[in-house]
Amino acid sequence: MSVKPKKKRARSFAVHVDPDVCDGCGVCIFYCKPKVFILSPELSRRGVFPAVPVAEEACNNCGLCDKACPQLAIWVMPKEEDES
Ligand code: SF4
Ligand code: SF4
Repeated sequence: MSVKPKKKRARSFAVHVDPDVCDGCGVCIFYCKPKVFILSPELSRRGVFPAVPVAEEACNNCGLCDKACPQLAIWVMPKEEDES
C-alpha cells in the first residue's frame, strides 16, 4: 500500500497599510526582516510619506509590523489557502 505524500502548505499573506493613519515613522521597515515595506515617495493626505508594502509575497506573517506600528495602521491576512 502506498501512502500519498501530503502537499505542502503554500500560504501567502496580504499586507495592508492605511495611508490615512500611517505617520511614516518607519518602524515597520525596521522590524520587517523580509523587507516588505518602503516609504512612499509621495505624500499622503496626512502630509507624510507613508509605508507601502511592495514585497508582500515575502511576508512570513511574523506579526512584528502589526504589533510594532504605533498607529495600528497595518493588518496582515492570509491571502490564499493551499490546494490539498
Ligand atoms: S510603523 Fe505604522 S505608522 Fe510607522 S511607517 Fe509603518 S505603517 Fe506607518
Ligand atoms: S508580518 Fe512580518 S514579514 Fe510580514 S510584513 Fe509584517 S513584519 Fe514583514
